Amino acid sequence: MHSFTYAALPSRVIFGSGLLDKVADEVRNLGCSRALVLSTREQLEAAESLSERLGSHSVGVFGEAAMHTPVDVSDRAVDLVHRLGADCTVAIGGGSTTGLGKAIALRTDLPQIVVPTTYAGSEATPILGETQDGRKTTQRSLRVLPEVVIYDVDLTLNLPAAMTATSGLNAIAHAVEALYTQDANPVISLIAEDGIRSLATALPVLHRSPRDREARSDALYGAWACGLCLGAVGMALHHKLCHTLGGAFDLPHAPTHSVILPYAVAYNAHSAREAMSRIARALGAADAAQGLYGLARRIEAPASLEAIGLKRADLDRAAELATANPYWNPRPMTRAGIRELLEHAFTGQPPETYHA
Ligand code: NAD
Repeated sequence: MHSFTYAALPSRVIFGSGLLDKVADEVRNLGCSRALVLSTREQLEAAESLSERLGSHSVGVFGEAAMHTPVDVSDRAVDLVHRLGADCTVAIGGGSTTGLGKAIALRTDLPQIVVPTTYAGSEATPILGETQDGRKTTQRSLRVLPEVVIYDVDLTLNLPAAMTATSGLNAIAHAVEALYTQDANPVISLIAEDGIRSLATALPVLHRSPRDREARSDALYGAWACGLCLGAVGMALHHKLCHTLGGAFDLPHAPTHSVILPYAVAYNAHSAREAMSRIARALGAADAAQGLYGLARRIEAPASLEAIGLKRADLDRAAELATANPYWNPRPMTRAGIRELLEHAFTGQPPETYHA
């Protein structure tokens, strides 16, 4: 017998192509008329062009969003919100830009429209991670959940190949962990399987043909599905390890997820058998961990922790930090077990199905 709790999140999602002209309508639907457009420096041009399209509905652009949502950047953005009298934000970009919109919403309660350009999934979650003085804190609040998300496939056509691969695997990781988390529920598990299937089908096609519109559409839909999983249920070992490695050793977010995922799944293989068969089915593979490893190799995602900048000397400390304050996980996170996992991820060897 199943027993579970399911809480739906209130959010309006518009998915398609050629949607940038609809952003002004969405600003109006929110009862707003003075949007501040947000981006990173790298995507400033896209933000400025969107601001122009919004015409009188835009009061300007703030183009300083940065990885891990630094509090000083958010404070400067909030100052600008007040100075310009903005009444909503429009974030165009990846998880870093979405994070800035969420940080502004936390401080001002301004409604948010998010136009994602990666597969990170932050736009579908009520989660905000912020950094100050080198420390990252994460909170969950409906106040930061974006009111409107506009998924425009056109904006992902030029997502660079390396980011397509790592961002896509980052998204798959949300759905994978949703299938074995302690608060898994049947609705989210359906969405998780479909998210994995869509991305696992699309990513190899995009590896060969980055501008394939059908595959871009499948990948973006998959990213939404996987983001819904992240927003709805708790995560486990994989996310804990990635947060530890990102926070303590400054490893890049999406590449770290890409490297760790097959090993985290192998670690849990004997403790979450139903989830494993669902993951394998969604991948079209005989085994979940091997299937994820094979997918990552096929799309040429980074193959090892060493390749993304970790030092062998850091492995002991990483295992210690990850197990000091562990998340719930189907198989307990032991120091020795995690150290072994990290060793394998460091070299990039095929994941072994560890025996609990
Ligand atoms: P990102 O937003 O940091 O983007 C990386 C770089 O790629 C940036 O310079 C960005 O401007 C650029 N970029 C984005 N889309 C592009 C495109 N289509 N074409 C060309 N360049 C593009 O990377 P990300 O992986 O999307 O997000 C990572 C951040 O999001 C991390 O800080 C992570 O913690 C956070 N995140 C939060 C949640 C949550 O629920 N709170 C979920 C996932 C990720």
